[in-house]
Amino acid sequence: MDSLVFFTEAQVREVQRAFGTPVYVYDERTFERRAREMLAFPNAYGLTVRYAMKALSSRAVLRLFDALGLHIDASSGFEAERALRAGIAPEKVQITAQEPPRDLKGLVEQGVRFNACSIHQLDEYGKLFPGAEVSVRINPGLGSGHSNRTNVGGPSSSFGIWHEHLDYVLGRAARHGLRLTRMHTHIGSGTDPETWLHCARLSLAIAARMPEVTLLSLGGGFKVARMPDECSADVREIGGRIAAEFERFAREHGRELHLEVEPGTYLVANAGALVCTAIDVVDTGPDGFRFLKLDAGMTDIMRPSMYGAWHPIVVVPASDAPRGAASYIVAGHCCESGDILTPERGNPEGLAPRELREAAIGDAVVIEGAGAYCAAQCAKNYNSFPEAPEVLLTKAGEFRLIRRRQTMEQMLENEIE
Ligand SMILES: *Cc1c(COP(=O)(O)O)cnc(C)c1O
Repeated sequence: MDSLVFFTEAQVREVQRAFGTPVYVYDERTFERRAREMLAFPNAYGLTVRYAMKALSSRAVLRLFDALGLHIDASSGFEAERALRAGIAPEKVQITAQEPPRDLKGLVEQGVRFNACSIHQLDEYGKLFPGAEVSVRINPGLGSGHSNRTNVGGPSSSFGIWHEHLDYVLGRAARHGLRLTRMHTHIGSGTDPETWLHCARLSLAIAARMPEVTLLSLGGGFKVARMPDECSADVREIGGRIAAEFERFAREHGRELHLEVEPGTYLVANAGALVCTAIDVVDTGPDGFRFLKLDAGMTDIMRPSMYGAWHPIVVVPASDAPRGAASYIVAGHCCESGDILTPERGNPEGLAPRELREAAIGDAVVIEGAGAYCAAQCAKNYNSFPEAPEVLLTKAGEFRLIRRRQTMEQMLENEIE
């Protein structure tokens, strides 16, 4: 049976009482530990750790990582703007985006860095800033992810510039007088470590053909175990092997490349939990299932519905009366059959009953591993449920509200007729 990761049952009840549910709870201690682990990533000639803020973009979290010395990877112009408004220095923000920022010129003039993710983006940048230096995102020809939906490399992915177009890209850059000083790859989330290393070697081979490159970003994608039978990437081991490759590159090409990594998941996944309340228990007879319904769902956590992802689920009984175990399909509160928290692994359409403590209406139910791609990636306001608040468990052991629950007025404020 699953267990709580960073807080106790008494604390879960305290949160349920004090803030209402659903509510996200984040653990400052885990954020810090993960950030320090990443900052200690072995490297040969210098390291920048860029937090992929799309994983969890709340201001308090951005500020916390900024204070620890992390830079920011923004997935859109809007994300960059959000980071700037949180007080992050523009030089520490880099945009790697599918959609070019509406105000690329303004953002870059403020100091924000740009990573051109297509030939069109490179051209646009070149027209605005001829003679400048820039980074390019290359699709090295392979991808990997915990599901096909998180694979962003290889021939079936539109992310980055296809590696076989490199000569053409060098020509385009020369036409604009652009200097390609930085190269970037990111092939997916939840990448298998061997594939990650293989991609790193391919990327170095591509960097070898770009004579002005002095910095190589190998993206994020470090795998994190949320469930007990999953395995986390060993970043020290991966880093050590990469450092050796960078040294070899320096011997062969006379260039000491600065390393950049761009973790999202690794920094925040297990630093967050979603605290919900059990609102109903129903069943569909002896040949059917027993369903445990929560006051949260795809409005707060989409990963199970979208990827068939598994998260630990812990029932925290409201009373001390002894409880047995029972098998449940855990369902979200949306009028949507796909709003399920216990899908079959890797198959969002399948159902996989989960053995939990027997649950009663009113019990707290905690979804663990909910720090990455939950608050930041959800079916916000579907069925008109308000966006859930966020609470930080500080190092001092206090629960501090960092984002309020959305009100009905806020949900409706842009409707003008
Ligand atoms: C999403 C993303 C990341 C982070 O991926 P994780 O799997 O969460 O570590 C890093 N870089 C880019 C460009 C991304 O889009």
